[in-house]
Amino acid sequence: MKKTGKCVVISGPSGSGKTTLSNYLISISKLNLNFSISATTRECRKGESDGKNYYFLSLNDFKTKAKNNEFLETEEVYPNVFYGTLKSEIERIWGIGNNILFDVDVYGGLNIKKIYSESTISIFIDSPNKMTLNERLKSRGSESESSLKVRLKKAEIESQKSTQFDYIIMNKNLEEAKKRLYDIVFEFLNNE
Ligand code: 5GP
Repeated sequence: MKKTGKCVVISGPSGSGKTTLSNYLISISKLNLNFSISATTRECRKGESDGKNYYFLSLNDFKTKAKNNEFLETEEVYPNVFYGTLKSEIERIWGIGNNILFDVDVYGGLNIKKIYSESTISIFIDSPNKMTLNERLKSRGSESESSLKVRLKKAEIESQKSTQFDYIIMNKNLEEAKKRLYDIVFEFLNNE
């Protein structure tokens, strides 16, 4: 795939606030960042829509696309729930001359960094403690008790990978986290 823009990878445990922080970056027009809309086999949540938050696919469609080599990377993020970055998404964003923002799990994030190393910055958003994470996930109201447990377990595993990222931002105070994130990304996008 011909490369033209830069990549900003944001990873971190579910409930760490990475989606809020990603949306913040997207809202700053001078960064020219477009969100890479992933494909997933998970259910569409209330307030989400197909083609905006995700491309919601059946397991069959997801597997067919994987077989046809249409993904840059895929992960079974939770048991039997698949997520993946479509190559067509990257072509779409670079095609209009913009940079790409990925909100992906740690394995996806590290894979993208490996593929586009020179032009990628990887940032891990961490949550101060498990209690906060638990509260943030609960307040979202979209998780069942078992899904909550799976996400907390996954968060533990993800935190162990944080040191492999270029930067770690502790999201203790949202405004401070936003500022630090903006400074890092602005500098990266404006350096050759
Ligand atoms: P959620 O179900 O809460 O939207 O996302 C669950 C996890 O999947 C999050 O950590 C999110 O960043 C990750 N994710 C979303 N899209 C992708 C993707 O395309 N690839 C990978 N590897 N992870 C993804």
